[in-house]
This record gives sequence, C-alpha cells and structure tokens, in this order.
Amino acid sequence: MIDEKLEGVFAEVVARNPGEVEFHQAAREVFESLGPVLAKYPELADQKVIQRICEPERQIIFRVPWQDDHGEIHINRGFRVEFNSALGPYKGGLRFHPSVYLGIVKFLGFEQIFKNALTGMPIGGGKGGADFDPKGRSDSEIMRFCQSFMTELYRHIGEHTDVPAGDIGVGTREIGYLFGQYKRITNRYESGVLTGKATTWGGALVRTEATGYGTAYFTREMLHARGDSLEGKKVLVSGSGNVAVYAIEKVHQLGGTVVACSDSSGVVHDAKGIDVELLKQVKEVERGRVSDYAARRGDATYREDGNIWEIPCDVALPCATQNELTGRDARTLVRNGCVAVAEGANMPTTPEGARVFLEAQIAFGPGKAANAGGVATSALEMQQNASRDSWTFEHTEHRLADIMTGIHDTCHHTAEQFGAPGNYVVGANIAGFLRVARPMVALGLI
Ligand code: NDP
Repeated sequence: MIDEKLEGVFAEVVARNPGEVEFHQAAREVFESLGPVLAKYPELADQKVIQRICEPERQIIFRVPWQDDHGEIHINRGFRVEFNSALGPYKGGLRFHPSVYLGIVKFLGFEQIFKNALTGMPIGGGKGGADFDPKGRSDSEIMRFCQSFMTELYRHIGEHTDVPAGDIGVGTREIGYLFGQYKRITNRYESGVLTGKATTWGGALVRTEATGYGTAYFTREMLHARGDSLEGKKVLVSGSGNVAVYAIEKVHQLGGTVVACSDSSGVVHDAKGIDVELLKQVKEVERGRVSDYAARRGDATYREDGNIWEIPCDVALPCATQNELTGRDARTLVRNGCVAVAEGANMPTTPEGARVFLEAQIAFGPGKAANAGGVATSALEMQQNASRDSWTFEHTEHRLADIMTGIHDTCHHTAEQFGAPGNYVVGANIAGFLRVARPMVALGLI
C-alpha cells in the first residue's frame, strides 16, 4: 500500500509517463516502502526529492539504421535514459531485445539508481538499449548494428558522464564492437567509458561472473541470517544467460545443487545437478539453447514451454527477465517448501508474487539488492581503468563477496530500523533511497 501522503505523487508519475507500465510497477514498489521515511524526514518531502528522483535528468531516443548480410536496410530505435547523477556518473547496462521501449528502459534505470546507491560506490543510475533482436544474427550484423548504435550514443557518454555496460543481449562481444566504434570516433582510448569489457583489453576479472556470483552470495547471507545455509539445498535458476550461468556455478561452489534452468523456449530438468561446463560450452561458445544442453546430457529432461517454478525446490533464483514469476508461481514455490528467493534478474517477480513471498515470510531478496554485484564489479572495473591497474581474480572476488555481505547487512538493518524486520524489499528501497536523497539535498536544487 502507498502511504496516503504519497498517493498524489504516484498518480502524477503515472499520468506524466502514460503507458509505461513497467516503470509504474517499479516506482510503485519503491513508493510502497517510503511512507515511514517521509514521516521521519519530512524535509525530504518539502524538497520534493521523490518527485525529482522520478523524473530522469535526461532521456535520449535515436534512430539506429543498419544493413543486414543480404543488403536489406533495418531501422531500430535506440535509448539512453540518464536518470540520476547525484552520486556519480550515470551507470547502467544496455539491453538489446525486441521488447525494449521507453517504459522498460525507465523501469531499469529507476531501479538502477537505488541499486547503485546500495553498493556504496560513487555511481549514479542510467540504462539504455534498443528494440533490436540479436537472435539469429551473424557476427557481422551484430557488429554493424553496434557501430550504428554507438555512432549516435558516443556524444552522450564518457568516463565522467555516463558509463554503459551489458544487459540482456549485450555481452563482451557487443561491448567490444561498441568500444571499437567509440574509440574510432573520439580518437581516445577511454577504457572507463564502458564496463563489461573482455579481460584481454581492459576488462576486470570477475565482471563476467559478478551478477550471478553476487546473487548466490546474497542468498547465502539471507539464509545465514536465519541460521541456515546453501549446503545441500535444491535450487532452481531460471534463464541460461550471463546471470544464470554464474549463479549456477557459485551455488554449486557454496554447496547447493541447481536442478533446473531455462530459456524463453523451455526448461531443462537435471536432477543430478546442472553440468556448468557443458552449459557454458553450449551457451557461450556455441550460442545454443538449453534444448541442446538437454540433448547432450543423458539423464536431463527438456520441456518446451515448461514452467520451471513447478519443480520442487528449497531455493529459487529468477535470473531471466521481468515479471517471469507470477503470484501463482510464488504460491507453488511456497507450497513446495521453498525457503528463499533471490532475484538475479531485474523485477522478475510480479507484485502479487512478491506479496506471496513476504506474507509467507520466506527470505525474499529483491533484484536491486540481490543482483547488485554486477554493477559493483563494474565500478571496480572503473577503478582499475582509472589507475591503469588490474587485480587478481581472488582479490576482486573477495571484494565482491564483501560488497554483497555489506548490501545484505544494510538492507537487513534498515528493515529492522523501519519496523519491518526480515523484509529486504523495504530495507533495500529505504536504504537506497536515503543514500541518493541526502546528496540530492546537499547539492542544491538539481
Ligand atoms: P542474457 O541475455 O545473457 O540472458 C538472458 C536469459 O534470459 C536468456 O536465457 C534468455 O533466454 C532469458 N530470457 C530473456 N527474455 C526472456 C523472456 N521474455 N522470457 C523468458 N526468458 C527470457 O541476459 P543477462 O543474463 O545479462 O540478464 C538477465 C537478467 O538479469 C535481466 O533482467 C537483466 O536486466 C538482469 N541483470 C543483468 C546484469 C548483468 O550483469 N548481466 C546485472 C544486473 C541485472 P532466450 O535466449 O531464450 O531469450
């Protein structure tokens, strides 16, 4: 429920951003947590900090023309929403997926403000992308698309201004093509302008693994706070992209067994535990599907259009996309004895699903806390680029683990402080909000 003092403000956000349903959903979730904050700090209401946070500092929409391998011309739409720079340069990924439109970019950018604040690093919030579908496209087509996209984006970004990274459909290959075009246009080798670079040319070790590893660490901390652990737990991980693969790897290292993963076509159930090396080979090297994994892995079964959340488990990690876990799925998970859910993806649980988890009082880690390890490690990549240094895998992973423990403890403590013990949604929203709100007041009317 939104506090009655904030109802009008929320209604205004909806009216000013018509049709952007994902943005409304993300904003509502934050608004629902903020009542007690304004009661405690009324000056933040007087300063209209919430209204200011909901209005991006800058929104860029641009044409991305490109030619496919047969010479046909295509026109896509590119976006960059520079949401908030109170804490540092805008920071957030680029998503290439046909579903991308302004509402998706704004929901992701809005979440990113609070997530980045929770990491404790000096980074603001932004997000971007294009309604381009990379599936089935050749390397050359991907390169031409990335070059065209950067030909407009380059003028808006910079290591002290706005630092994009990857997201759905944008991995190290795409970051390489984007950086190459940036370097060519600007005549500057500005490593810190993009993160998620390959380790052979300025990328940080652990960045590839960071979001998935971080989600597993956050899960470990939530279980630990309840006197439990990942040891022996049966785990579901949806998706099979960057976040999912490394969440699976780290869950295994921490003693759990991931028995299923998925893609937008189907679900693979592998009761003995997903073979991560085979999954990486299929997904990262061959750019295949989970059905290809199942076909090569004797005992595993594959169900086209299957619902992963129907498989009994102790822990669920949604790592694919927004609104992939519904109220019905949440009830199934709770009924099957699931004790913890951590969001590797951004907003994968519908509002009804989140309510079910909170009412059942299972440990529920929202994405802005549980998947913040990716952007935190991006900030570590920026640090290394700025000092022309490169750290070892062990050192960087150690930093990541510490950051995730810190985020967990901050959310846990803040939830308690504001009368909602054990509620990580409230804890993450309030702690993230306060970390941005205070600098916004200190910097004057911006
Ligand atoms: P990838 O593109 O590497 O993988 C995405 C995975 O999700 C694929 O398995 C894809 O399957 C699946 N997927 C995408 N859309 C849908 C859909 N509509 N229905 C079902 N499955 C779908 O992306 P990432 O792993 O990087 O990102 C996953 C999530 O994590 C996103 O929400 C992203 O915003 C979030 N995130 C990512 C971070 C990162 O560092 N990469 C950081 C923080 C959050 P298919 O191939 O069939 O489309």
